[in-house]
Amino acid sequence: MTQDLFSLDGKVAAISGATRGIGRSMALALAEAGADLALLQRSPEQTQLKEDIEKLGRKCCIIPCNLERMDQVKEAIPSVVSQFGALDILINNAGIQRRAPSVDFAESDWDDVLHINLKTVWILCQQAGRHMVARGRGKIINTASLLSIQGGFTVPAYAAAKGAVAQLTKALANEWAKHNVNVNAIVPGYVATDMNTALIRDPVRSSQILERIPAGRWGEPDDFKGTVVFLASDASNYVHGHLLAVDGGWLGR
Ligand code: NAD
Repeated sequence: MTQDLFSLDGKVAAISGATRGIGRSMALALAEAGADLALLQRSPEQTQLKEDIEKLGRKCCIIPCNLERMDQVKEAIPSVVSQFGALDILINNAGIQRRAPSVDFAESDWDDVLHINLKTVWILCQQAGRHMVARGRGKIINTASLLSIQGGFTVPAYAAAKGAVAQLTKALANEWAKHNVNVNAIVPGYVATDMNTALIRDPVRSSQILERIPAGRWGEPDDFKGTVVFLASDASNYVHGHLLAVDGGWLGR
């Protein structure tokens, strides 16, 4: 049956930054599709999502993973594998934003954004890739951005990091596709989450953005549920190195 292609029954998925926003919706979608979840979390004491996933009848564990701490980043995937026995799906979702005119942009902000949005994505991909290539299967889904493609405005570090995430996705797909490891990226458009509070509160920027979205609305975290299940499931087995935009049509404008 075609719908079986989308089943994640018996799969183990790890996701970073799922306590809120896009990541929370994606984690719930993976659980609803049948996967057990490992939540890579900065604040392990936040157990609401774990409880919600367990109510769906799935197993869930929280792996302490503050992405600022390289020791925790490097231990995350081995911990998932030792707790669940294997890792089938990795979602690199966590990310941060810093806004300032480029002439004033602080070096510390540059370092923070490049570290969280790019370096830790690379390390988690590499750790998961070692496991998945050896097993001969796996799915890695990175979170890119419209600013992987466009330059944005007053977000130089974010644009640089997300541009690199898109290229990293393609570079890894080129190496790992022949091992049945799919590496793809989701390109969110403008989504109403905590990350965009400043934009949403700015009446000028907010209406400029809304006017350019063909769908006529900002994205919502639940808009990512179907996309993440598609890219995590057998339905996408021949999709490699793709940047899948979920943007209400923004890029076509
Ligand atoms: P959000 O701010 O609501 O959530 C970000 C998540 O990352 C949170 O769970 C947070 O705890 C986690 N995180 C941040 N720093 C961390 C750290 N040091 N260690 C561990 N976790 C950390 O943002 P969101 O809008 O849901 O963004 C999710 C992803 O989507 C990000 O990669 C973001 O860049 C990307 N994205 C968002 C938009 C948008 O419009 N919201 C657009 C394009 C791309």
